[in-house]
Amino acid sequence: MNALAATSRNFRKAARLLGLDSKIEKSLLIPFREIKVECTIPKDDGSLVSYVGFRVQHDNARGPMKGGIRYHPEVDPDEVNALAQLMTWKTAVADIPYGGAKGGIGCNPGELSTSELERLTRVFTQKIHDLIGIHTDVPAPDMGTNAQTMAWILDEYSKFHGHSPAVVTGKPIDLGGSLGREAATGRGVVFASEALLAEHGKSVNGLTFVIQGFGNVGSWAAKLIHERGGKIIAISDISGAINNPNGIDIPELLKHKACGGSLLNFAGGNAMDPNELLVHECDVLIPCALGGVLNKENAASVKAKFIVEAANHPTDPEADEILSKKGVIILPDIYANAGGVTVSYFEWVQNIQGFMWDEDKVNSELKKYMTRAFHNIKNMCKTHDCNLRMGAFTLGVNRVARATVLRGWEA
Ligand code: NDP
Repeated sequence: MNALAATSRNFRKAARLLGLDSKIEKSLLIPFREIKVECTIPKDDGSLVSYVGFRVQHDNARGPMKGGIRYHPEVDPDEVNALAQLMTWKTAVADIPYGGAKGGIGCNPGELSTSELERLTRVFTQKIHDLIGIHTDVPAPDMGTNAQTMAWILDEYSKFHGHSPAVVTGKPIDLGGSLGREAATGRGVVFASEALLAEHGKSVNGLTFVIQGFGNVGSWAAKLIHERGGKIIAISDISGAINNPNGIDIPELLKHKACGGSLLNFAGGNAMDPNELLVHECDVLIPCALGGVLNKENAASVKAKFIVEAANHPTDPEADEILSKKGVIILPDIYANAGGVTVSYFEWVQNIQGFMWDEDKVNSELKKYMTRAFHNIKNMCKTHDCNLRMGAFTLGVNRVARATVLRGWEA
């Protein structure tokens, strides 16, 4: 099942639990606007090349639309649509005053020079500048894009509209980016895990963790779990997986990687079959890499008691059912990885205020938002007698539906 089908299915289930009117249900699924532009640029060798850029603006009932821009050869309009919709529910779950959007350019950034990427980003911005904006739609980095991409968008947009740092988030700190943004998704994953474990009378300290992926999210989550006394007994990246039943020394692993070492030649762990990682015995499994990694082939063998979905869509719907029947508790992606967009919201607030927060304030506000969202989700679980995924979906969908009705949507 692709991302669009899975998101729409979860939305429909939530709409049924909430008893939403069928007209409002239909209207919430239809995107506000879908933009498709041709971006033609000269390559460094003088030839002309054209790429298709997309922006799907799903919903703005609760505020400006918010979501990443990805550069990837397989940017597919259906997937962008699903991810835009998911952003609408995610920002509502986190209770930040945004709607949802997503965009991208169908290109392979690895095959473009820095100057070609800059030209492409500027042309894309020229084509969409009057459809994005501080109070309209605020892009952020995603797969294949980064803080530099946001700096180019900011610069190009500002040529048309005057200096506008709040038009994008995930910027370099020197251009108004927020302290704490780089760690935010991983830190949010840890705050979410702490809230879940506290509910079960447990804490990170002393529990065993398995983490798939050691990139931005996985490495920050691992570092913060290690600092809190959690034992990370297995971890992987694209090159393979390692384990250590006594706990992997994460600060040493980070030093080893920073010096150019690979996960597999780290002395503090033994190489293991990466396929075995997801079914390794542990208390908490945190997928931080790809979508669809938990599926009907491996779900029955999962031994973790808790799964915290740091990646987007790591559990496909068949696996979801198998795991639920086994009593595995899953903290869903639309909540668990919302720390990134929450700190993006703090960045936007700081830009609008013209006042920079210190990192402690960013982190303590993030904890407040993540903890409050968890309790809001639990309340929905009690009201609708449902699991955490449906608790999060009913929370998000209900907030967007209420805002839509209050604004008056049938005129
Ligand atoms: P990164 O690209 O920084 O890291 C991805 C990690 O996954 C890398 O360690 C990569 O290995 C590893 N990886 C890739 N393929 C495999 C594989 N087959 N098996 C095991 N590991 C693999 O991405 P992020 O950390 O930013 O994002 C991770 C997930 O979190 C994604 O699903 C993303 O959509 C989601 N997410 C990220 C947010 C953010 O703010 N960054 C916000 C919300 C969601 P290697 O290092 O060797 O390349």
